[in-house]
Order: sequence, then C-alpha cells, then structure tokens
Amino acid sequence: MEKRLRKKLKGGKFKDVPVVRSKTMAAIRGKNNRTTELCFRMAIVRSGIKGWVTNFKDLPGKPDFFFRKKGIAVFIDGCFWHGCPKCGHYPKTRSSFWKAKILRNKERDKSNRRKLRRKGIKVVSVWEHSLKDPKQLNLKINMLKTLLKT
Ligand SMILES: [Zn+2]
Repeated sequence: MEKRLRKKLKGGKFKDVPVVRSKTMAAIRGKNNRTTELCFRMAIVRSGIKGWVTNFKDLPGKPDFFFRKKGIAVFIDGCFWHGCPKCGHYPKTRSSFWKAKILRNKERDKSNRRKLRRKGIKVVSVWEHSLKDPKQLNLKINMLKTLLKT
C-alpha cells in the first residue's frame, strides 16, 4: 500500500512524512478500529441480533461484520480514514499526502462495495460518528434488523 502511494505522489513526498508520524497514525488506525467495532458489536448484541462473524477475510474489503446466511456485510467506517463528509478532515501538515491516502481509501471502499453488491451481498455502512449518537445508532440497528428479516 505504501509503495503504491509513493508512486502516486509525485516527487516522492511520501518520504518526507516523518516515520514517527506514520507510526502514530497507524497506531491510531488500529485503536480506532477496535473501539468502533466493539461499540457496534455491543449494540448488536444488546439488540439480540445473531448470526454474524467479524472481520470476514474471504470477501472484498474484509467486512467488519458478515451475516453469512443472509449475505449482509457491515462496514464500520472511521470518519478520518474513510473521509467522512460530515466530520472527516485532512491534517494541516502534509495535507497532500493525507488527501491522497484518504482518497485512495475511499476509492478502494467504493470498488470493494461494488464487488460485494455484484455478488448479491447487501452492504451496510456505518460511520464512526453515528456510533456516538444513540439515535443514529438505533437507525442503523433497525435497518440491519429489517434487512435480516427479509
Ligand atoms: Zn463522521
């Protein structure tokens, strides 16, 4: 992934990104993923929703939750990494690097989700910010419940 990005950024700007910073962001990414996934996981457990597996590796994009029988994939998208239009922002320093990186993530998300839909899999995307809002979280849970009933 980093190699591809380096190619994308003319003049090798990638090299200028301090190693420490990259490591810090990588750490944030891992931590956020776990926290947001856990948050959603608790919500579906509370709702009595069953029949899912996490981090399903055999499908494009490795859905965070996958309902095998119903063919429903759920992605929990971190607002920063997936470029949320509501709260996503680019860091002020090295903004061209982050823009390219986030844009690439968004493109990959789109293509993965298209691939899933072609396989007949229903895709539910949940923004990280909606997990912090009980109303929005409920909406998503209810939407998932409805899909599971069909
Ligand atoms: Zn957001």
